[in-house]
Amino acid sequence: MVEIVANMHIHTPYSDGELYHRDIADAASAAGLDVIIVTDHNVWVCGPAGYHGGVLVLIGEEVHDCQRDPQRSHLLIYNVAEELSPFADNPQELINHARRRGGLTFLAHPVEYRSPLHPDLEAIVWDDWRVKHFTGIELWNYMSEFKARLWSAPAAVFAAFFPSWVIRGPFKAALRKWDELLIAGERVVAIGNADAHGATYRLGPLRRVLFPYRHLFQCVNTHLLIDRPLTRDVKTDQDLVYSALRAGHCFVGYDRAGSTRAFRFTARSGAALAIMGDEIARRGATRLEVVCPDAGDIRLLRNGVVVAQNNGHTLEHLTVDPGVYRVEVYRTFRLLKRGWIFSNPIYVR
Ligand SMILES: [Zn+2]
Ligand SMILES: [Zn+2]
Repeated sequence: MVEIVANMHIHTPYSDGELYHRDIADAASAAGLDVIIVTDHNVWVCGPAGYHGGVLVLIGEEVHDCQRDPQRSHLLIYNVAEELSPFADNPQELINHARRRGGLTFLAHPVEYRSPLHPDLEAIVWDDWRVKHFTGIELWNYMSEFKARLWSAPAAVFAAFFPSWVIRGPFKAALRKWDELLIAGERVVAIGNADAHGATYRLGPLRRVLFPYRHLFQCVNTHLLIDRPLTRDVKTDQDLVYSALRAGHCFVGYDRAGSTRAFRFTARSGAALAIMGDEIARRGATRLEVVCPDAGDIRLLRNGVVVAQNNGHTLEHLTVDPGVYRVEVYRTFRLLKRGWIFSNPIYVR
């Protein structure tokens, strides 16, 4: 397995972002990313996919129903080379259409909180949880979390200038919702993204590009474990990226609090070995192993409940219990314990 780092929720001037693909790729390269997926609102932009320098640029789309007020249910769609926004008014139909075309679908920022500071800062949540057959959820969206921290004008000014002092981790309600789906037997892949716009914000007399793309690409990313190294052939590499993503061979890392590269979560039972996203059949006991690139507060959860915990670089746990196992790692950064790594589950059957 080869680890690559991706950010998969990005806007350009084709919707409401500031920079075009090539400049965003430069920012991604400077931040050390391997892959970016550009997801403009309700427009699939044909053309700019490919390698720009060392960065693989892929094109997805963030689709929502423009007629809805307030806004609800944004859906990230990958691996479909056509416009799907005409299906936006029915999320299940939209998911089905994308799926029939080989696409992957993720509920974007499904849990959000509004900021009272501006009418544009409403919560854009996912509202119909009866939908089926989506690939996963965007567990941690950096800009969503930032919006939730803008609860007063002074708090907003502080957050704008010192974001790393306010960013804490995925919303608890998002983690709970994810666990609910997993416990109900669904396979749900979690990803983490920037939702990068590079926009200039005004806060009273202050005017500032709050979050340049490069900064955002050093924060919440999705680390993918692909089957073999990228080849620089766009079609081959795109398939490597999307098959890892579809399988949930990935974890969410807040790289600003320390690089999360080289985090691993595996399970062994008899001769079988599983990585994040995999299912493993029990042959007697199952050994779950976590390795972190640096020390942290490692928590192993089974069906949403912590069953083992260790402060350090590693955690090992032997179990005979089936269940959905996943890992959260917290780390002290800017004086507080903050979310650092959120693994995809291993399904022990
Ligand atoms: Zn959105
Ligand atoms: Zn977005």
